[in-house]
Amino acid sequence: MENAQLFDAGDKGRGLRATKELSAGDVVFAEPGYAAVVYNSMAANVCHNCFRRQSKLHRCAQCRFAHYCDRTCQTACWEEHKLECAAIRKIVMAPNEQVRLAGRVMWRIHKDTPIATDTQLVAVDKLEDHVADLGEQLKADVSSFFKYWSYFSKQHSAEYIAHILAIIKCNGFALSDQRGQQTVGVGLFPNLCLVNHDCWPNCTVILNNGNQSALNSALHSKRRIELRALGTISEGQELTVSYVDFLNLSADRQKKLKDVHFFDCTCEHCTQHIKDDLMTAAAEVKPSADKVKEVSVLSKENLEKIVVARNQGNFHEVAQLCSETLEKQENVLANTNLLKLRALSMASEALSYLRVYSEAANYARMLVEGYSQLYHPNSAPLGLAIMKAGVTHWHAGQIEQGHSFICKAYSILMITHGPNHAVTRDLETMRAQTEIELKMFKQKENEFHTMRQEVLKDDSKADKMI
Ligand SMILES: [Zn+2]
Ligand SMILES: [Zn+2]
Ligand SMILES: [Zn+2]
Repeated sequence: MENAQLFDAGDKGRGLRATKELSAGDVVFAEPGYAAVVYNSMAANVCHNCFRRQSKLHRCAQCRFAHYCDRTCQTACWEEHKLECAAIRKIVMAPNEQVRLAGRVMWRIHKDTPIATDTQLVAVDKLEDHVADLGEQLKADVSSFFKYWSYFSKQHSAEYIAHILAIIKCNGFALSDQRGQQTVGVGLFPNLCLVNHDCWPNCTVILNNGNQSALNSALHSKRRIELRALGTISEGQELTVSYVDFLNLSADRQKKLKDVHFFDCTCEHCTQHIKDDLMTAAAEVKPSADKVKEVSVLSKENLEKIVVARNQGNFHEVAQLCSETLEKQENVLANTNLLKLRALSMASEALSYLRVYSEAANYARMLVEGYSQLYHPNSAPLGLAIMKAGVTHWHAGQIEQGHSFICKAYSILMITHGPNHAVTRDLETMRAQTEIELKMFKQKENEFHTMRQEVLKDDSKADKMI
């Protein structure tokens, strides 16, 4: 690995640091992944090779569980799927994704022998596991694994399998579809596991689904994660990513990290509670503390109802509840308050879905204003929110504002996703389209002004005539 090396990161254990100066958008490393599986709930909607979400997929005729875009994806995946296919057929029902991933890891361990190499810094079974902190589910998964997995006469102890399953639990990386909008699977990326957490990280990790549909096979690229620098990183500096969304209060982020990843976050943003004040801020008109409390309680209740309605696909109800909530929050909560941002995000999403674009655009714009004060200027969630705001404005016919958001989003996504990511390529197309529309609009605007001036001249003539 050229840009990074293992080092002892003190209390945090192992870590990775830069071996040379890196700039925003640099790919620190790309990793195809040791093994990855699609979630059971998504098994029929997502390609098991490239993790693209598609409506028409081909089903594996043998296990009837795996699905693929086409023959190319199926062939590319067969080596990984072959033994899994037989195992699923044997027990009829596929086990859960953790067990299937453990199966793929174990088959690969037997095939490759798990040693550290220049491209894989630590052997997969030497990763952190926290097995002692995991409970009953782990036992159930171990027994499910033994019913499922086989490899000739190879046997493993329950402890070793528990260790592998625990590694997956602690280090499994959620993979998203080609739009980056929904998590559809989980994979194990041994080098990525070595990158420690920071709530305000200097890198981001993104899944590139690759491209195997290009007619020219020389243009094919494989599914991989990319660790990308968010800004300048100096030689020797530790590389970090965030395991949680920054848009939570420091105490909530710390709790989540402790519950899921079993460590206490002592990053600068947590210890100094940086931006917690903005995330809970009251509006500038200084409402009474009682009022703020009352509206915050109501907002929390409503947000719960909004999530339920959204999960049921009832967007009219979502829009109604959001509008009530935002009305109550007006002049009480600041635009950076998390409760307001959550309501704005839901409102904009529901109204876009209902095609009420101009209102959706207003909310999307307020959301971006709030996010911009909280997120790192080059963070992926900020870039994606700006992209959505751009699209909503465009749909609402506000081409100038839409184009400007799309350009801004493009500059962020070039860093966080890179030029070859499907989302960035979509954005590039939209940028070109809105640019043309904007030119046409401006031309027409000029025509409009010229026409109007002509009319005014005539009017002044007319005036004189009176
Ligand atoms: Zn595919
Ligand atoms: Zn199969
Ligand atoms: Zn932190």
